[in-house]
Order: sequence, then C-alpha cells, then structure tokens
Amino acid sequence: MVTMDAIAVAQVLSEIGYLLRQDPTEVFRAKAFSAASWSIALSRPDLAALHRANRLDSIEGVGAGIAKVLAGLIETGRSSYLERLRAETGQPSRDDESNLDLTAYRGDVHSHTDWSDGRATMLEMARAAVALGYRYLGVTDHSPRIKVVNGLDAERLLAQSRELAEVQAQVDGLTLFQGIEVDILEDGALDLPDAVLELLDVVIASPHVKLRQESAAMTERMLRAVSHPLVDVIGHPTGRRPGSREGATYDFEAVFKAAARSGVALEIDCDPARMDLSPELARLALECGCSFTLDADAHAPAELAYVPMAAWMARRAGIPPERILNFLDVDELADALG
Ligand SMILES: [Zn+2]
Ligand SMILES: [Zn+2]
Repeated sequence: MVTMDAIAVAQVLSEIGYLLRQDPTEVFRAKAFSAASWSIALSRPDLAALHRANRLDSIEGVGAGIAKVLAGLIETGRSSYLERLRAETGQPSRDDESNLDLTAYRGDVHSHTDWSDGRATMLEMARAAVALGYRYLGVTDHSPRIKVVNGLDAERLLAQSRELAEVQAQVDGLTLFQGIEVDILEDGALDLPDAVLELLDVVIASPHVKLRQESAAMTERMLRAVSHPLVDVIGHPTGRRPGSREGATYDFEAVFKAAARSGVALEIDCDPARMDLSPELARLALECGCSFTLDADAHAPAELAYVPMAAWMARRAGIPPERILNFLDVDELADALG
C-alpha cells in the first residue's frame, strides 16, 4: 500500500472536482468531490486505517462512489479516474512544474464574517485560523454596494475595527488585518472613498456585477482598478462560477501587465464555486510578472480548509512560492501591503 497523506489525497479529490466542473452536467458530482476534499483536508483522517477497516465511507461527505476512488488512490498512489478526466478534458498534469509546500502557507488574506455575508463571528473565524496554525488572517467583508450582503460603509468599518481589537486581544500568535472586499464599479471606480480605504490594512478589489460588459469596457474597468494606488489585491479576477456563470472577458494580458507594474497581486480564489483565476489564466499572469494571493474566501470556519485546492491550482499554473504573498511572514506581508 502506498502512503499518501490526507492533504495529498484531498488535492486529488479537488482536482477531480475541478475537472468535473468543466462539464455543466457534472456540477452535482463535482460538488460532491469538492466537499469530500474539504472534509478530508479539515479532519485529516487516517485513510490507510479506514481503508483496512473498509470504512472510508464513514468520512463525512464520502459516499460509495468517492470511497471507491479513495480506495484506488490509497492502494496505488494514483487515480485512474483522475487520469481519465485529465485525458478527456485535454489537461495534462503540470504538478511537477512548481513544488509548493503548503506547510509554508502563513495565512489567508480574504475572509468574511457576520459583519457582511459570512456565517460566523470574527472570533470564530480567528480561532479557526489559529487552529490551522496561521500567523495572520485578513478580515475582508463586503463594501456597501451589494445590499443583499449587508456591506460595510465607513461607519460600520469603524465599529468593526473596535471588535477587531477585542478579538485580536483574545487570540495568540495570529495577526488580524482589517480589510475590505471593495466592489469594482462598472466604470472601474471603487465602492468606497479613498479616505476610507486608506485606513485599512488590506484592500481587495473584486468584480461582482455587470460581468458581461463588452470586453473593451471591461478592460478599461479592470485597468482602472489595478492602477488604483490603494488596491492591494484583485479578488477572483474574472468573477466566474464554473458550471454556472462565465467570467468576465477582457484583455487579460494588458490588465495583468498593469497589475504587475503597479504591484497589485491577483488572487487565486479557491472557493470551489469560483476557482478564479483558473490555472490557465494564472499561468498567463505569472508570465506577465504578477504576484498572487491564494485565498479561501471563507464565509465560515470550515471553508478555510479550501486552501489545499489553491495550492494545487498554483502548482498547476507553475507559480513559485516567492510570487505568493501568503508565504510571507507577517511583517513582510504588512510591508508588501504598504
Ligand atoms: Zn467576492
Ligand atoms: Zn469574498
């Protein structure tokens, strides 16, 4: 029997979920693989022992079909199902082109709390980050434009900063960065004034609406966002939702080059519903000289465990660790964020 650790197994299941999502009729199965992957990444069960006891399906989120894939993986270290999917989708493995070691991942810069549409308190999110051994967590709730998510204006951000100080005092070894996930408006302006953004530790600017804008207008919009001096990261840069929504189309090369010039990082958002940038676009961004963040965009503590997926996506894009902000120590990150 081959020994594969739970994270390596979770990454295989993640990749299967990702490849299945390329086919709109397989969304349900894709979600099941993604969910099983997160469950294993989070609980790190003793897979070999469960396999010997014929109890792989006792893992949360693992049914008979996934248990069979797991059994093959544990016995051989390979997944013939994954290999077939790679062949069918014309996506050869590029896993060897970068050897990212996830143990060097220091923290996530994009997360949500119940201040906007997260499902947990800031303290619960912070404790989950501590449990994962993170040194920092970016608390980046939404800006006001999207009413349904109860976005934060200047006044609520100020109130949030008081809670952040209280939570900070209750967690050891974790630095909380107060940030915002600010909407990129249709014309490329941001959804909060500079005077507010300036006070925050991290500014993630994300496209959420009007993603079907015509390409030239979308290019202008994104160029304006990456050139904004207070933006640190572009969140889920295309807004795609594999299996349900195409992302925005724009002159990726022009925008990525501008981001590289202005020192704005691009996010690989590994929420399984997003997986954005895709490994293919991330590879282009890498060639354009960009830096990256690998973020779970977690809306609940368990979702922080999406990160192995980001590592897989970054590996697939060939991104070396020195281009990834989440591998920086807390002081280096604070410097990088200006
Ligand atoms: Zn977002
Ligand atoms: Zn978000």
